[in-house]
Order: sequence, then structure tokens, then C-alpha cells
Amino acid sequence: MLDYLLSEEQKMVKDLARKVAEEKILPAREGLDEREEFPWEIMKALAEADLCGLWIPEKYGGFGQSVLAFCLATEEISRVCGGVGVTFAASALGGSPILLFGAEEQKQKYLPDLASGKKLAAFGLTEANAGSDAGAIETTARKDGDYFILNGTKQWITNGGEAEIYTVIALTDKNRGARGATAFIVEKGNPGFSFGKKEKKMGIRCSATRELVFQDCKVNKNQVLGREGMGFIVAMRTLDLTRPGIGAQAVGIAQGALDEAIKYARERIQFGKPIISLQAIQHMLADMATQVEASRALVYAVARAIDAGAKDLTKESSMTKLIASDTAMFVTTQAVQILGGYGYMREYPVEKMMRDAKITQIYEGTNQIQRNQIGLSLIKESAQK
Ligand SMILES: Cc1cc2nc3c(=O)[nH]c(=O)nc-3n(C[C@H](O)[C@H](O)[C@H](O)COP(=O)(O)OP(=O)(O)OC[C@H]3O[C@@H](n4cnc5c(N)ncnc54)[C@H](O)[C@@H]3O)c2cc1C
Repeated sequence: MLDYLLSEEQKMVKDLARKVAEEKILPAREGLDEREEFPWEIMKALAEADLCGLWIPEKYGGFGQSVLAFCLATEEISRVCGGVGVTFAASALGGSPILLFGAEEQKQKYLPDLASGKKLAAFGLTEANAGSDAGAIETTARKDGDYFILNGTKQWITNGGEAEIYTVIALTDKNRGARGATAFIVEKGNPGFSFGKKEKKMGIRCSATRELVFQDCKVNKNQVLGREGMGFIVAMRTLDLTRPGIGAQAVGIAQGALDEAIKYARERIQFGKPIISLQAIQHMLADMATQVEASRALVYAVARAIDAGAKDLTKESSMTKLIASDTAMFVTTQAVQILGGYGYMREYPVEKMMRDAKITQIYEGTNQIQRNQIGLSLIKESAQK
């Protein structure tokens, strides 16, 4: 791996996350995947290691609001298990709208518990008829004095049912198009808020993916994030900030598969010699390693730019997710190929890594949507020249 000249603090975060991943996640990952069991014990270990508040300012009990540190930890966790990786990252996704748009009282109320890992968060935008087309959401929030009454169902929400804090986008005015949505903080236990179907998935099976159901759910107006009508801005700005995290998850999954492929290729003897001595295998490994490093370099560069205060990184943020998730899919598929028939068996971890990799091309905006976004940005930039 290239020397990214990480600071002492960043190295410490990376080493700590690797230690928890090796000691706690590695022995548990196969069973958690098999049983589709939420990794509560591991989330507790990550909290005890003080890794949950990397993206939160010190003022609210966090590590100092570093996207790069958050990406380093997400990568190390995902190198061992993509399912734990997304559980960890989705809490930051759910909490980031509070960090970006929350009033001071909201930050003080919610961020310390997320920083300590005492509570998890989740982000609810998607619905049955609104995936890529987020503007098609149907969940409504009708104003009623000092309250809003939420009705509707959010679908496929990561950490659904397990998290305590939910940021939810709902329509406050159907006729106002993009300005007709508002972001709310809704707590687990709020009357009228319950959980529906829990999904059975191809990969990231230890993560929880569940419906959020709102039936006349009464939410105080002081739970609005930003202002009424800003819901889609809240959602889009949040995703700009968190997509490098999905990039880091994908880099981690890819690195894990590359490590397994190299290890196996050194040990597997065919035709009287280790298969790693075959140039065909070396070329596969060379392409895999090159793509992993290129993806990592972009993820770290964009994370560093965000930390340094660079603005309007929508295009670059989309690029991190695009390149890293395509790399994860490519590298994990090649890893299965290098392990041959053994790679197809659950006894070896690479088939799980291939299953886990696929989702990184789909969630937080599919890769087609990332390409659309990058294309739009290119048009905009060229018009400004
Ligand atoms: C495991 C999992 C966890 C998730 N977690 C969350 C979560 O925590 N919170 C949340 O809000 N959502 C979550 N999602 C939802 C996720 O973000 C959506 O699945 C994703 O945005 C795509 O929407 P869709 O699945 O409805 O696909 P669709 O939008 O129906 O797309 C279907 C296909 O058409 C393509 N397509 C659609 N529109 C275009 C276009 N304009 N140009 C080119 N191609 C297009 C898509 O790329 C895709 O290939 C999760 C999903 C899954 C599967």
C-alpha cells in the first residue's frame, strides 16, 4: 500500500480499527452472515474503542470531525466484513444531517450519544416508488399547530429497527416540487412510528435493512432539520459528505478479497508449483491491486479535501463511490476466480466478499446515477469556462 503520509492520529485510528476488525469481527463474521444477525457485540466493541465519533466535532464528544479518519476506520472494518462496515457507516449517514443542518440544541441532544456509540442512527429517504427518483417520495408531513403528522412508509433503511435516531425526508407540500420536502429527526418509540418488513439479502447480511412505518406519527416542529422545504437539500448535501464513506467500504471489501487471493495463490499447488508463479494469475493480481490503490487514492484525496474545507465536491464525491464500488465488484469476482472451486464455497470468505461488494454499486445512489451526476457536473463546468 502506498504511504499516504497519514498523521499520527490517523494512523492510530487505522490501527485501532484493524485491531477490532481482526480480534472481534473476523471470528464472528461467518456466523453473523449465516444467521443474518445484527452485530450488536461488535458495535459495542467499536464504541468502546472510541471509533463511533470520528465524524463528529470534539465539542459534541467526537474525535474532531474528520471524514478521512472515518474513511480509514470504515475501510479497515469492511476489509473484514462489509456488513459491519455498512452498519458503522450508516449511523454516520443518519447522523450527518444533524451535523450539517441541526440547530445547536439538536446537535447537543443527539450527537454525543452517536459519538459515544450509545445510540445508532439511520437515514430514511427511499420508498417503494422512489429510489433513484427521490423526488417521487409519497410520505407526507402535515402541519398541525406546533406539530407535523407523518404518514407513509420508508423502505430498505439500513439500521432500521436497531437505531434510536432517524432522519426522515417527508413531503410538507406536494405542490412545491423540490422545495416541498422537509427533513425530520424521529426517535424510536415516538408514537405512530413502527418498523415493518425486515429484508433477507444477498450480501451485507448481518446489517439490518427494514421498513420505517409512519401512521399519524406526531413530531414536534422543533424536530425539523434546517427549515421547512429544505428536505432534498439536506438529503443531497448529506450524500455528498457520506459517499466517500461508501467508497471506503468498497475499498475495504476489495482489499480483503485481494489479501485472500494472494494468500491462496501462494499456497495452492497445481502442476507442481504454487499458482502465484503463473503469469496469468500474477496479471490478475496486478490489475486487482492497481485498481484498489487507485480507488483508495481517490477516496483519501476527496476525504482530505472535505476535511480541508473544499466546497462543492458533488462530482468528486460521486467519483469516489463509482470507482471504488466498481473496483470492489471486479476484485471480489477475480478473487473467487483465483480460488477456483474453493472460492465458490462458503468455507472461504471470498464468496461473501463478492456478495457484499454488489450493494456498493447500488445504494447511496446507483452507479448509473453517479455517472449521471458526474456528467451533469462536466456540462456545468464546461459551460463556465
Ligand atoms: C441493502 C440496501 C440498503 C439501503 N439502505 C438505504 C438507507 O439506509 N436509506 C435510504 O434512504 N435508502 C437505502 N437504500 C435504497 C437505495 O439507496 C436504493 O435502492 C437506490 O438508490 C436505488 O433505487 P432503486 O433500488 O429503487 O432502483 P431504481 O431507481 O428503480 O433503479 C433501477 C435501475 O434503473 C437505473 N436507473 C434509474 N433511473 C435512472 C436514470 N435516471 N439514469 C440511468 N439509470 C437509471 C438504476 O441505476 C438501476 O439500475 C438501500 C438499498 C438497499 C438494497
